[in-house]
Amino acid sequence: MVDPTSDLGEDVSEAEAPRCVVCGAAIVQSPTHRVVTRVEGDSVETTHFCGDDCRSEWRG
Ligand SMILES: [Zn+2]
Repeated sequence: MVDPTSDLGEDVSEAEAPRCVVCGAAIVQSPTHRVVTRVEGDSVETTHFCGDDCRSEWRG
């Protein structure tokens, strides 16, 4: 049985969601979600923010 009301791939739980690095809020389908990606040597560092306010507060 397929539940027609649930859309696969859009069902992100809080445990799986990224968290804002500034305030720690779980980011679940937030339209203000911001991601900053930086390359540090061989690795890629991805930093999540719940919005522009937290992003401007952050000093990486
Ligand atoms: Zn935040």
